[in-house]
Amino acid sequence: MNKINVTQSSLPTLEEYINEIKDLWDSRWLTNMGVKHQKLEMELKEYLHTPNITLFTNGHIALESVIDASNLTGEVITTPFTFASTTHAITRNGLIPVFCDINESDYTIDIEKIESLITDKTSAIIPVHVYGNVCNYIEIDRIAKKYNIKVIFDAAHAFGVIVDGNKVANLGDASIFSFHATKVFNTIEGGAVTYKDESYKLRLDDIRNYGIRSPESVMYPGGNGKMSEFHAAMGLCNLRHIEEDINKRKIIDEHYRERLSNIKGIKLNIIKEYVKKNYAYFPVVFNGYKYSRNEVYEKLLKEGITARKYFYPLTNNFECYKNNINYTPVANNIANQILCLPIYSELNKIDVEKICDIISK
Ligand SMILES: *Cc1c(COP(=O)(O)O)cnc(C)c1O
Repeated sequence: MNKINVTQSSLPTLEEYINEIKDLWDSRWLTNMGVKHQKLEMELKEYLHTPNITLFTNGHIALESVIDASNLTGEVITTPFTFASTTHAITRNGLIPVFCDINESDYTIDIEKIESLITDKTSAIIPVHVYGNVCNYIEIDRIAKKYNIKVIFDAAHAFGVIVDGNKVANLGDASIFSFHATKVFNTIEGGAVTYKDESYKLRLDDIRNYGIRSPESVMYPGGNGKMSEFHAAMGLCNLRHIEEDINKRKIIDEHYRERLSNIKGIKLNIIKEYVKKNYAYFPVVFNGYKYSRNEVYEKLLKEGITARKYFYPLTNNFECYKNNINYTPVANNIANQILCLPIYSELNKIDVEKICDIISK
């Protein structure tokens, strides 16, 4: 049986990668912000149209680091409808995550519910552009200004997304991206912080490299978050093919929509005309359909197709956050009804047909 996974990592040809890493055997400079790292930073700055970028070993460390660099205290308002990383990064900085519910239309943080959660301890909002759906950044910005708090977007899903003609990297005080193997753009493991305010740079550099500014000057108790030359080289290769990859995903997305839209009890991710999407995920909500989410998941699994209950469980239902009392009924419902179907650039039309046949059979 030909197995289909929820995702498959994009890779350049072996020749292309070998070509890219060849000169590392001459320089023997394998990490610590070498030429590949510098080149990738420059190319990503251009691709993301961002004035500042700092690369990291992965998206999670990027998020932990930018929270650290933002001097936050007390409570941070965030969404439970996300990957473990978002909530853990807040907690691991000694801060308290305050869970805000999501909206029913695009599953991002519900801007109607943020203000009631703000207390005199709130220092930031960390929303997530979940599935590449851009949060209502205008309203979030208004709230943040009103209460003088910071906004850090978890844009791990949003690489390549354009909103109102602007790249998503420029929203809020800072945004983080993940370049993990399962994401739209990958450096195997990797991540980045993008930001407007240049004063973030030195602090992020300190956090990324032990606070070492020169051999005899250590200014901050930082950690190690450096991206290696081999990872940066993979990024340089994959970046050459990103538009082609996103276009292939678009065709798959359209194909799914042809088969699954206008079916009673099946709700697809909305398309907003002011957003250019990256087609990172294909989430489907089963609500009142002849099969439940779990039944569809099992049916697919029996045929060798692994979909993903993404995001289930919610992070505020994790054992380690059980004591948190915030009630998020909409997120609870969606988490029980949503299933992400396989989507990746090399997924073929026959497999999409097969998946849709199993769902509707
Ligand atoms: C993948 C992901 C992260 C973490 O990124 P890594 O590169 O895997 O460390 C953070 N937030 C969200 C929403 C993610 O999907």
